[in-house]
Amino acid sequence: MSRITHEMNHEFADAAWQERHAVTRIDQLREWMRVDADGSLMRDVELGLARAPMAMRITPYVLNLIDWSNFLKDAIRKQFIPVGSEILPSHPLLKMDSLHERENSPVDGLVHRYQDKALLLATDRCPVYCRFCTRSYSVGLDTQSVSKKRAAPFQMRWHSILAYLRTNPVIVDVVVSGGDCFRLKASRLLAIGMGLLSIPSIRRIRFATKGLAVLPMKVTSDHEWTDALFNINHVGRDQGVEISFHTHFNHPGEITDYTIAAAELLFKQGIRMRNQSVLLAGVNDDPEVMKQLVKRLSDIHIQPYYVYTCDLVEGIEHMRCSVKRACQIENAVRGITAGYNTPVFVVDTPGGGGKRDVHSFEHYDRQTGLAVYRAPSVRPNQLFTYPDPLQSLSPDAQAAWLNPKRAERILSDAVETARVKSMSGLCGMQK
Ligand SMILES: *Cc1c(COP(=O)(O)O)cnc(C)c1O
Ligand code: SF4
Repeated sequence: MSRITHEMNHEFADAAWQERHAVTRIDQLREWMRVDADGSLMRDVELGLARAPMAMRITPYVLNLIDWSNFLKDAIRKQFIPVGSEILPSHPLLKMDSLHERENSPVDGLVHRYQDKALLLATDRCPVYCRFCTRSYSVGLDTQSVSKKRAAPFQMRWHSILAYLRTNPVIVDVVVSGGDCFRLKASRLLAIGMGLLSIPSIRRIRFATKGLAVLPMKVTSDHEWTDALFNINHVGRDQGVEISFHTHFNHPGEITDYTIAAAELLFKQGIRMRNQSVLLAGVNDDPEVMKQLVKRLSDIHIQPYYVYTCDLVEGIEHMRCSVKRACQIENAVRGITAGYNTPVFVVDTPGGGGKRDVHSFEHYDRQTGLAVYRAPSVRPNQLFTYPDPLQSLSPDAQAAWLNPKRAERILSDAVETARVKSMSGLCGMQK
C-alpha cells in the first residue's frame, strides 16, 4: 500500500476501502514510517506490541493524521501505536477488568450496574484499537500478553439480553457499546435498535462509538449502515424514544473535514451527539488542548459530555494523569463556553463504584496520590479508591507504594480518614 498523498481522493473517502487497508501488522506500519533510518523506532514499536494488551488496528485515515516526523511525541500516535521505551511498570493496585464489569453482568453481554441504565456489549471488535481500552480483557484479538475472554456468539446472547430488559422495566436507558457499533453489520445494527425499541420501558438508546473519530467516512459512504441508523432514529422519534450517538474524540486534531461532513449529516437527522474523552498524558492533559477540543466539538454540535480519567490498564501507566491534574484542567475549561457544552470530569472507580465527579472525593492525599470516593447510588456501604500514577509522586511516595506493607498502610489510612470525614459530613447534614 502506498502512503496517502492526496487526502480527499475517492478511495480514501470510502469506509470499505479504509477497513480493507487498516494496518494490523508491523510490516504494514513500516511503509508509513518516514524518519527511521536505523530502524530503531520500529524496533521500539515491536517491543511495545509484545507487551501490549491490545492488538493493533489503525485505519489509513488515522495513520494520515499522525505527524510521522514527530513520531514519539505525536498525540494521535500515542493513542494507537505502543512503543516499548515509554512503557512504565503498572501501579500495584492494577487488576485486569478493574471496573469489575463481569461481576455486574446478569446475562452475558449486558452490564447492569446502575439503577435505571444498562450497558450492552454488542461486539468485541472496533474499527481501531486504543492502547488504553478499559475492556482490554475482552476487546480485540488475542495478543502476546493477553488471551481475551470471549463472549458467546451474539445470536445466543441477544435473546437473553432482550428477555432481561423486558423483565426489568426499571431500565429505561441502554448504551450500545462493545467493542464498537461501527463494526456491526447494518442488519445487526437494525436488529439491535428495533429489538430495543420493541421494549416499551426503554426511553433512551445510545450508540457509543469511536467510529466518528477514526472512520467518519462510514457515515457518508456506507449507506446501508446509515440507513439502518436513520431508520432506528425515525422509529424511535415516533415512539418518543431518544436515539443518540456517543463519540470518543480525545484531541482537536482528530476533527477533520470528514468529521464535519459526517457530524452534519447526523445533526440534520436529529441524532443527538455527545462526546466522551479520556484524559491522557501527552495527548490532552493540557488546558489549551482541552479547551480547543471542547470548542471544536461544540461547533459541530457534539456536546462534550465526559472526560474520564484513564482507567488502570496494563501497559499504559505512562498515559494516566493524577486526580490533581484532572481537577486543574477541569477548572481551566469550566466557564469558557456554555455550561451544557462543558464536560464533567469523572473517575470510573476501580472496584465497580461507577463514575464519580473527579472533585467529589471524600479524601485525597496528594502525597501518596490516593483519592477515595463514595458511590451512594451504586454501592452505598463501600469506599472506592483511585491511585495517581506513580510517576506523578515524590520518590519517597513511589518507594512506599512499591513496598507491599507500606502500600497496605497507605490504603487503610486513606480509607479510614475518608470514613471519618464522611461520617462527620453526614452528622452535619442531619443537624
Ligand atoms: C458508563 C456506564 C453507563 C452510562 O453511564 P452515564 O453516566 O449515564 O453515561 C451505564 N452502564 C455502565 C456499566 C457504565 O459503565
Ligand atoms: S474504540 Fe473503545 S472499545 Fe474499542 S479499543 Fe478503543 S476504547 Fe476500547
